[in-house]
Amino acid sequence: MKNKKYIVSACLIGKNCRYDGDNMLNKRVVDLLDKQDYISVCPEELGGLKIPRPPAEIVSIKPGENIPSERRVLDRDKKDVTCLFNEGAKKTLEMLRSNGIKTAILKDKSPSCGSRFIYSGDFSGNLVEGTGITAALLQENGITVLDENNFEEKLELK
Ligand code: SF4
Repeated sequence: MKNKKYIVSACLIGKNCRYDGDNMLNKRVVDLLDKQDYISVCPEELGGLKIPRPPAEIVSIKPGENIPSERRVLDRDKKDVTCLFNEGAKKTLEMLRSNGIKTAILKDKSPSCGSRFIYSGDFSGNLVEGTGITAALLQENGITVLDENNFEEKLELK
């Protein structure tokens, strides 16, 4: 059986799985995947979160603190949804492994999928350098995590 090449955030290819029921359709990502074998995934949905759902952010971020089990995710109503985010991350990693995938293209700035920036944890709209729960777990397990803004450069598609 031929291995899939990429895993991609489902919202980037138009699935309405964002917290607000919308998507983040990205034509450049869609164009790349048009010629590739891939799997789309929404880690938050995989973890059991509903669509729509309150927005959530990673709190208590300290420099270098990127271990999923040591970070907490709270939604805007202060409900702790860390377990669901961790569950989605674990299931996403299992999906990659069972399909022999080594590269993920994930939506940046998400508390799950972000690989360079995430929101600061106080729902102020400010971004900080950091990694989402799923992206961090994948990176810790040797997966190359790219985002919608750097995949062309990193895959040398330009
Ligand atoms: S968890 Fe990832 S795939 Fe799901 S909506 Fe958020 S950014 Fe998109």
